[in-house]
Amino acid sequence: MTTTTPETRAKTEYRNWIGGRWVPAASGRTFQDLNPARHDEIVGVFPQSGADDVDRAVEAAAKAFDSWRLTPAPRRGELLLQIGLRLRERKEEIARLMTREMGKILTETRGDVQEGIDTAFYMSGEGRRLYGDTTPSELPNKLALSVRQPIGVCGLITPWNFPLAIPTWKLFPALLCGNTVVLKPASDTPASVAELGRVIEECGVPPGVVNIVHGSGKEAGTPLVEHPGVRVISFTGSTEVGKMIGGACGQRLKRCSLELGGKNAQIVMQDGDLDLALEGALWGAFGTAGQRCTATSRLILDRPIAQRFTEMLVERARKLRLGDGLDESVEVGPVINEAARKRIHSEVEVGQREGARLLTGGEPATEGALARGWFYRPTIFGGVTPDMHIAQEEIFGPVLAILVVDGLEEAIQVLNGTRYGLSSSIYTRDVNAAMRAIRDLEAGITYVNGPTIGAEVHLPFGGVKETGNGHREASHTVLDIFSEWKAVYVDYSGKLQRAQIDR
Ligand code: NAD
Repeated sequence: MTTTTPETRAKTEYRNWIGGRWVPAASGRTFQDLNPARHDEIVGVFPQSGADDVDRAVEAAAKAFDSWRLTPAPRRGELLLQIGLRLRERKEEIARLMTREMGKILTETRGDVQEGIDTAFYMSGEGRRLYGDTTPSELPNKLALSVRQPIGVCGLITPWNFPLAIPTWKLFPALLCGNTVVLKPASDTPASVAELGRVIEECGVPPGVVNIVHGSGKEAGTPLVEHPGVRVISFTGSTEVGKMIGGACGQRLKRCSLELGGKNAQIVMQDGDLDLALEGALWGAFGTAGQRCTATSRLILDRPIAQRFTEMLVERARKLRLGDGLDESVEVGPVINEAARKRIHSEVEVGQREGARLLTGGEPATEGALARGWFYRPTIFGGVTPDMHIAQEEIFGPVLAILVVDGLEEAIQVLNGTRYGLSSSIYTRDVNAAMRAIRDLEAGITYVNGPTIGAEVHLPFGGVKETGNGHREASHTVLDIFSEWKAVYVDYSGKLQRAQIDR
């Protein structure tokens, strides 16, 4: 994100979407969305919003809530179905735009849009379920049941690595439950959400039900978190920011769901299918240039296969083709911006100072056309020990740390030995080892014979320990974030009946 001067203003000027109107920031200020593969290309210019814009958006959302909450859930679901169908028509176009603003390769941005489509279809069906419970009352002639109710205005704050998928994970269930929303997308990837807004508008969602406010975390995100009219904050991003947001919500007794960082690991046991594990490790570590919350940033190898596997992996990693993700032959795109590249490089330097062995990569890639973008070479460290910084902290770039262990017990212990707990994986042909890993790995997600990435929208998504605060997105479990349970008792006895007393 850079501040726009009049000379650099691009043709594609986007606006906030508030109360059904596309409006500039109250201050008139803007920022630029740049292509990380060629940073002289401005993808779009966006409003640099502040507290005034957030106030207006929350006001519009609060006004729209009165009628949206009374719209039957199946009707709300039908609108989500329309949105999913329209996203499917525009999939390729949005994927290309997303590659330009985020950098990941087209195959992956197509997958990102597809995840939004899947979420729309899945959530549209939920409109005819949204189940509560019916249960016997302890008293005669009394009906007992529970129903889900909408909460109010939800503030959604999203990161740049899944520019469309993550916003839809929050937006669609929030809407389905009858809430209205103010969405603040990441300022590195605002265009994908702006296009999502256009799709939502075309599909006839009433004005004010969805509002989009662009801008930085401090200027637009903080006022949204602190706004008294916002009843729920759903945040995905770094653990550092998540802790601040969690604290601010706690002070205000505001519901808050946090999906935060990870330090995910893939275990390869000596009996595992090594070729399969190799494909998994490459995709897990270097897909999206390692910038996934579920990226494989640690590889835990059983000693008997460690050397051979490491050699195979390093050879393949060296051959990965870097470049502009719009080129279908490219395998790894750039990292998101210059600050991220600098941060990744400084983490690599820490690894070297700690005594880990740099096996490949370890520097920015600047040859030829790569000089125009923020590329970093796929990097692998050997000789890493569990206490090292590079084995503990999320790097969020194409950097993989290899740790060698003796057997399953130690592998599980090492995998569990970080403050995070999002995704985990084990490659083994031993069903007993797989079952023990499923039981003992401290993570919200465990894959057996698959990489650490590949979540599907109808299974719960989230992590343990400092990866979050106990909520799960996706699946029907996300409904617990965006609805309030109400217990209902209907007494048809015609007399006063007292629970726990009349026995
Ligand atoms: P980030 O925390 O810097 O920003 C995320 C969002 O929060 C952005 O929209 C940003 O503008 C906003 N923000 C920043 N400071 C804020 C503040 N003080 N108040 C309110 N809003 C604020 O994270 P990022 O760099 O965009 O994303 C990368 C991080 O996200 C990584 O740590 C990654 O692991 C995590 N992530 C987690 C998941 C998950 O589901 N667990 C998924 C994707 C990414």
